[in-house]
Amino acid sequence: MNPDSSTPPPTHSIRTDLLPRPGTRWCEYEKRALEIRRLIPLRPEQPLDPFQLAHLLQFQILRLSELDQLPPDLRQPLRDVKLWSGAALRLPNQGSVLILLNDSQSPRRLRATLMEEICHLLLGHPPSRLTLEEPTGRTFARHVEEEAYAIGAAALVPFAGLRQLIPRHPSIEALADHFIVSRALLRYRLTVLQLRHFLPPA
Ligand SMILES: [Zn+2]
Repeated sequence: MNPDSSTPPPTHSIRTDLLPRPGTRWCEYEKRALEIRRLIPLRPEQPLDPFQLAHLLQFQILRLSELDQLPPDLRQPLRDVKLWSGAALRLPNQGSVLILLNDSQSPRRLRATLMEEICHLLLGHPPSRLTLEEPTGRTFARHVEEEAYAIGAAALVPFAGLRQLIPRHPSIEALADHFIVSRALLRYRLTVLQLRHFLPPA
């Protein structure tokens, strides 16, 4: 027994039925995602609200649409979600955090973007620099991007919750609606977790 039940148990004590195949990176990502969900905390099948999480972590959020001082010739190109979807800044003085969101994207994609930025911050990733050399306009560290996206997606759609809900919501659309994520993100989770075969063919 854990004598102090108020502290969450360490990662290695997470029940194995809450985790995907051990020894894979998806299992490691899932452990980090479950630690993040415990901050709220949530049952496996409950959808996570990244805005609530950001508030809890005292991360400030600034939406592009709130920058009403921007001249239109600057604002219009910045609305392009192919150029950027979100960015996080750690302000040097007070150590406070500001997350910029391109709110031209759909609300569900915005949730995934915010979750990814929160993960970059919690994982201590170095901020990407703005650059004109990369097609996306930002330097791109592939493994850092994969890690933040994958853990964010796992926090939004955890393995255990997905497994519980598949019998009750046996379609990509119904599962995506339940977790308030895009169908693309839901498909990604089913694929990396090798759960796709539990759904009837589309
Ligand atoms: Zn990123």
